[in-house]
Amino acid sequence: MDFQNIERVLVLAPHPDDGEFSSGGTLKRFTDLGLEVHYAAFSPCLKSLPEGLPPDTLWKELAAAAAILGIPQNNIHTFDFPVRDFPEHRQAILEELIVLKKGISPDLVLLPNSLDIHQDHHTIHQEGLRAFKHTRILGYELPWNNLHFTNNCHIRLERDHIQAKMEALACYQSQNFRNYMDPEYFFGLAKTRGIQINSNYAEAFELIRWII
Ligand SMILES: [Zn+2]
Repeated sequence: MDFQNIERVLVLAPHPDDGEFSSGGTLKRFTDLGLEVHYAAFSPCLKSLPEGLPPDTLWKELAAAAAILGIPQNNIHTFDFPVRDFPEHRQAILEELIVLKKGISPDLVLLPNSLDIHQDHHTIHQEGLRAFKHTRILGYELPWNNLHFTNNCHIRLERDHIQAKMEALACYQSQNFRNYMDPEYFFGLAKTRGIQINSNYAEAFELIRWII
């Protein structure tokens, strides 16, 4: 089954948990509908790992989270760029994105929104635009990285989708020191975005490019 003529979706996550935080409910809705969802993560975030944990910790957590969202392990694409230094690797990142584009040929790409102030997110946004300029693109929401956010596209969700998002995020045990790892926050945000469109729940996106 397709979703408004979309069959293949690619989410670009600068760091392994960005896709779940921003779009976990949407990804679960997509896989429930039978869409082919791919997840690309660009750094194992060695500098952000609590001391003493093995270097592949976030890759293992990502694999577990993706399984909960219905994303096959073969559809996870990982890269070893150093966290916080993405701007220095702009061209290498672009080249990897072009390889992903040729290999997957996605109908829809989810990437960091245009006003995300994190330097790694900004790099993935900019290079993502270059690589996927002929594709539908939505910019996802991570409120702690934005002073402003253009939320002019909403995807309707049900409680089950947000529940799956929470379960996927719970796989990131190494990150549970972060203050936004809070079910109350995720259900609250999804409820807020839902109320904007008279739906139970939703995730909001910046509409960057749409093709009909
Ligand atoms: Zn991130």
